[in-house]
Amino acid sequence: MNTNLYTEKFNIDPKVILLGENIITILKSNFEYIDYVSEQNQLKIISAMQRCNVSIDCFNTSTGYGYDDYGRDNLEQIYSLVFNTESALVRPQITCGTHALSTVLFALLHNGDTLLSPAGGPYDTLEEVIGIRDSIGSLREYGVNYKQVDLLENFEFDYDNIQKALEDKSIKVATIQRSKGYQTRPSFTISKIKELIQFIKNIRPDLIVMVDNCYGEFVELMEPTDVGADIMAGSLIKNPGGGLAMSGGYIVGRKDLIDRCAYRLNSPGLGREVGASLGQLRSFYQGLFLSPSVVNSALKTALFASKFYEELGFKVIPNSSEPRTDIIQSIILESENALKLFCKGIQNSSAVDGHVTPVPSDMPGYNSQVIMACGSFVSGSSIELSADGPLREPYAVYLQGALTWPHGKLGILKSVQELYSQNLITIN
Ligand SMILES: *Cc1c(COP(=O)(O)O)cnc(C)c1O
Repeated sequence: MNTNLYTEKFNIDPKVILLGENIITILKSNFEYIDYVSEQNQLKIISAMQRCNVSIDCFNTSTGYGYDDYGRDNLEQIYSLVFNTESALVRPQITCGTHALSTVLFALLHNGDTLLSPAGGPYDTLEEVIGIRDSIGSLREYGVNYKQVDLLENFEFDYDNIQKALEDKSIKVATIQRSKGYQTRPSFTISKIKELIQFIKNIRPDLIVMVDNCYGEFVELMEPTDVGADIMAGSLIKNPGGGLAMSGGYIVGRKDLIDRCAYRLNSPGLGREVGASLGQLRSFYQGLFLSPSVVNSALKTALFASKFYEELGFKVIPNSSEPRTDIIQSIILESENALKLFCKGIQNSSAVDGHVTPVPSDMPGYNSQVIMACGSFVSGSSIELSADGPLREPYAVYLQGALTWPHGKLGILKSVQELYSQNLITIN
């Protein structure tokens, strides 16, 4: 066990290092399962790339209109193979996850239609897309209605009320968010998503089911599109970009729906034929190739944090024995001081901006200050090690990412060291 560099270069107390090593020993079989899942996903991706005859020519770039961009079209074919769908759009012109999801919603819903969220409220940024919070250009402004069925108190689906809601024939699309985002519910596993989709399709086979897959890619052996989702979207600066994609998003699903999305994203008449790849293709291909490994590192980091903080007496969501379906870990730190110190530890472990100390600040859309730690190579990338949390009760921190497991491990050790050196925790 090489504890020297942790102490010599990062000032981590040998007691913290030892506890960390003990926890890693306890997690051995969990780590083996994480390795198994990434192995399977890696094979899925390599075989898709081989079937599409990927060669160095695929990384050439197009400019201007982007007609006949072979590498772009081929990558989209690979995404449809990996996600088991008829079609895909993978574009640098999709600016982020919210844009990918908003493109789907605007493509599929018309004036007088209703969007149903059968499993509670959507991600914060989607509130403005839908018009739950007033905003310019929302679906609501264009005459699209929204209906929501909340989860039961035990976080199970409220099937009775979903069934009742589905009687409304104006409902055209149902949207399911896999990852909990900033909510307190657990994230929905693929098997839970499957159950919900089957329930909906039994009653309304015509309904389009979409899934917000942000942070979920390659965490499990299957994806929502393997279990009946008609269309699904996500961000390339999260899991599937593998830390290399500098921007972009993807949408995968049924061909007729993806074509509509392309007409919405670009223009009616033009659709998927246009959109220059602007030099991004190599990083999209290589990022997808690396993604299962990067997700592996993020999952080990999340699990290590979960078990470590559990041992220190904190409430963690998910806990170290619950199944995982995304890379998000939350830890209830219970005090402002602990939240600030945790984020300082994460920041100071980073290769980029490791010298700065994060401070809380006001954020649009939040009614309390927020503190964020993110030392990333790609601005705002949350597949890289990062942590954030609002400065209010119960002082929960949301942790995600790490491109490599050793970096994730260092970040968690640094965070514990910060709390330890301020006597907020004791270690025997
Ligand atoms: C990140 C995220 C989004 C939005 O993605 P951005 O890229 O930040 O716009 C939507 N839904 C979920 C569950 C997310 O985690």
